[in-house]
Amino acid sequence: MKVAVIGCTHAGTAAISNILNLYPNAEIDVFEKNNNVSFLSCGIALYVGGVVNDANGLFYASVDQFEKQGVRMHMEHEVTDCNINQKQLTARDMKSNVTTTYNYDKLIITSGSWPVTPPIPGSDLENVLLCKNFAHANEIIKRSEEVKNVVVVGAGYIGVELVEAFQENGKNVTLIDSEERILNRYLDNAFTAPVQQTFEQKGISLALSQTVSKFTGEKKVETVVTDKGEYKADLVVMCIGFRPNTQLFKDQVDMLGNGAIIVDEFMQTSVTDVYAAGDCCAVNYNATKQPAYIPLATNAVRMGTLVAHNLVKPVLAHPGTQGTSGLKIYNHNIASTGLTESAAMLNGMTVGSAYIEDNYRPEFMPDNEVIKMKLVYELDTHRIVGAQIISDQDFTQAINTISVGIANNMTIEQLALTDFFFQPHYNKPVNFINQVAMQAMANQASGTNVKEAVTV
Ligand SMILES: Cc1cc2nc3c(=O)[nH]c(=O)nc-3n(C[C@H](O)[C@H](O)[C@H](O)COP(=O)(O)OP(=O)(O)OC[C@H]3O[C@@H](n4cnc5c(N)ncnc54)[C@H](O)[C@@H]3O)c2cc1C
Repeated sequence: MKVAVIGCTHAGTAAISNILNLYPNAEIDVFEKNNNVSFLSCGIALYVGGVVNDANGLFYASVDQFEKQGVRMHMEHEVTDCNINQKQLTARDMKSNVTTTYNYDKLIITSGSWPVTPPIPGSDLENVLLCKNFAHANEIIKRSEEVKNVVVVGAGYIGVELVEAFQENGKNVTLIDSEERILNRYLDNAFTAPVQQTFEQKGISLALSQTVSKFTGEKKVETVVTDKGEYKADLVVMCIGFRPNTQLFKDQVDMLGNGAIIVDEFMQTSVTDVYAAGDCCAVNYNATKQPAYIPLATNAVRMGTLVAHNLVKPVLAHPGTQGTSGLKIYNHNIASTGLTESAAMLNGMTVGSAYIEDNYRPEFMPDNEVIKMKLVYELDTHRIVGAQIISDQDFTQAINTISVGIANNMTIEQLALTDFFFQPHYNKPVNFINQVAMQAMANQASGTNVKEAVTV
C-alpha cells in the first residue's frame, strides 16, 4: 500500500506514527513545505515571552526519526498539483526547483490552515507579520528585539497570548479587534471582562469595535489606521483567524463554503481512498450536531490518528468535538467547551444558562479561591451545550469533565446528580460542577435566565 501524506504538523504526524504502528509494510511518502515536522504553535507566545528558551522543546517528532522508520520524507517540497482521479500528485523541491510526479494508492490530506490575510493596504510593509509556524515565531522574536510599539490585530486566543508576552517583554502594546470584547468567540462577558480589566491595569491599550483600514510607513510599518483611530506601530502581528489550506483539492472533494474538507466519521472525504484530517477539515460539532470549522491541535491529532485506523476499512468512528480549549493570561486560568450563550443564540438555539461565583472549598479552610463558572443548556431538552470557567487558581480541568458530558448528550439534571468526591482540601460537599448544574435546574424551575435564539 503506497500512502501519500500532504503536510506534516499535528494531523500528518499523528497519521504517520499510527500507520507505522498499524501497517508496518505501508510505503509512506510525506510532502512538507517546511523543514520541520510537528511544530507546536501553541508554544509561540511562550517562546516570544521567553518562558520557553529552547526551541527544540516545541517539536515532538523529527524528520530523522521518521526516516529511520522507513518513511520517505520529502521536506521543503510543496505539492503543487494533485489529480485525485488519477491518484497522482506533483511536488516541487523548493531548494532545487525540480518538479516530480508521484503515484499513490491512498492519499491523506493534512495540509492544515493558513492565517487569514485580508487585502489591507500596506500589508506588505516590513514588520507586518503572521503567527503560525516556526519561521514566523523566529521572525517575531528577531524583529521584536529592536522595537517599542507593538500592535496585535485580532483578540482571539492567539492575539491575547501574544499581547501578554509582548507586554511582559516591556513593549507598548495595542490590541485591535472589530468586536466589542476580546475572546468573544470563546467566552461570554463575565469571563472576558476580568481579563480586559487586567490588560488595562497592565497598560495595554484596547482598541475594540474598530476595523483596520490600512498600515502606513516608508519601508517599515509605522502606523496602523482603523475606522476609529491611528496607532503607532513598529511591529504588527496579524492574528485574525485561519482558513483551510485546500485550494489544491477544490472541485475534487466536497467542502464547506470556507474550503474546509468534509469528511465522514471515518475521516474519508467524498472520494474513495482520499482521507483528510486537522485544520484543513470540518469536524462534527457535538454542541450543534452540525459540521463546523474548529481548527485546534486537539482535533488535528485525533483526526490524524483516526485516518490511520480507518485507512484500510472503517473501524473507528470520530466521536465529534466540543471545541474544548484552555487559556492562561496573567493570573487568569480560563477554559471553555461547546457554545457560549451568545454563540448558541447565533446558531438559532434557544438556551438557558446558569452562573455561579463561589469559594471552591469550605470557608473554614485557611485560604480559598473564587471560581466563576457558567453552564449553557438547551431549553427544551435540558441538554448541556457549553460551559466556561475562570479563576486565579487552576480549575480548568472541570471543563474537560463537562466536555465529556456534552459528548454524551448529558442533561443538567444528570450533571447535577453525578457522583463527584468531596474532601475539604479540594471542594465543597456539593462540587462546583454539580452546583452550576443545580443552579441551572433552579433557573429552569423558576423560568429565569431563558435566552431566545437571535436572527442575524
Ligand atoms: C499561535 C498558535 C497557537 C495555538 N495554540 C493552540 C492551543 O493552545 N491548543 C490547540 O489545540 N491548538 C492551538 N493552535 C492551533 C493548532 O496549532 C492547529 O490546530 C494545528 O497546528 C493544526 O494542525 P494540522 O496538522 O491540521 O495543520 P497545520 O498545523 O496547519 O499544518 C499543515 C502542514 O501542511 C503543510 N502544507 C500545506 N500545504 C502544503 C503543500 N501544498 N505541500 C506541502 N506541505 C503543505 C504546511 O507546511 C504545514 O506544515 C494554535 C495555533 C497557533 C497558530
